[in-house]
Amino acid sequence: MHPYIFYIMTNTQLIGRFAPSPSGRMHLGNVYAALMSWLYARKQGGRWIIRIEDLDAMRCPRKFAEEIIDDLHWLGLDSDGEILYQSERADIYLEAFNRLREQDLVYDCFCSRADLRASSAPHSSDGTPIYPGTCRKMSPEQHAAMLKIRRPSQRVSVPDEESFFVDGNYGPQRCNLLKDCGDFVVRRADGVFAYQLAVTVDDALSGVTEVVRGCDLLPSAHLQIFLYKKLGYNVPRFRHLPLLTAPDGRRLSKRDDDANMGYLRSIYTPQQVLGQIMHAAGFCGAGEELTLEDCLAIENSHPQYN
Ligand code: GLU
Repeated sequence: MHPYIFYIMTNTQLIGRFAPSPSGRMHLGNVYAALMSWLYARKQGGRWIIRIEDLDAMRCPRKFAEEIIDDLHWLGLDSDGEILYQSERADIYLEAFNRLREQDLVYDCFCSRADLRASSAPHSSDGTPIYPGTCRKMSPEQHAAMLKIRRPSQRVSVPDEESFFVDGNYGPQRCNLLKDCGDFVVRRADGVFAYQLAVTVDDALSGVTEVVRGCDLLPSAHLQIFLYKKLGYNVPRFRHLPLLTAPDGRRLSKRDDDANMGYLRSIYTPQQVLGQIMHAAGFCGAGEELTLEDCLAIENSHPQYN
């Protein structure tokens, strides 16, 4: 092997991550995302980090984060390095936000949620209304008048251009940034930085190379890739997972008590819970009890995820 190739192979460390929002106890769907990203990183000798996405501190008491960490520990999903809390990183997001500002990519938006709901704007593939650009076109006079009435949020303006990436699971993904996604909020009116900015900055600064998460976030990847490029970061690989559903086909949510980790831990062992997740994800039959080593072996032998 050429020494340079050997150098790249031994020095390019794969880093995966799990980034839960601690707004309640995890359910099987969250644990599935954690398990898949852990397996994907560990089978390749990579690092795996945890980041708590508690930007909205009011909705995310520390107790929930601690429960999540404890649930992951109970399952044996060990992480590397320090656990980051987004609520402690506003200064870091501000620096990135200012760099977007310097590029003239940010503008004030005075539209309320009700305004957006009332507009007849089309919706993006994840069901959120595509911002029609109302405040992008505002004159300086209108802007000054609005500033007296309302505190604005800040949006990034996206170009009328195609975005393209290849998802590790869903294959080639294309969209027109302006028509299919629209200008998006990077800072809320209350000053809290928004998910799209924080997740991009954190993944980039943590050196994350593999983003494995639920496919509800597939459309967000286009916006995040846009930010990666504007902020001069390396774009990671994305691998979105099908969402786990309850036996009746509904998407699992934090309201499904029988899929909640508090309940699961009270009646099952970690091996039984891992078996249930692997079964729900179509990797094995019902009722199996699996160790993490078993999960690694099954995942490795499954061509879809290799
Ligand atoms: N915090 C997000 C959630 O729990 C996930 C963000 C991500 O993985 O990019 O849904």
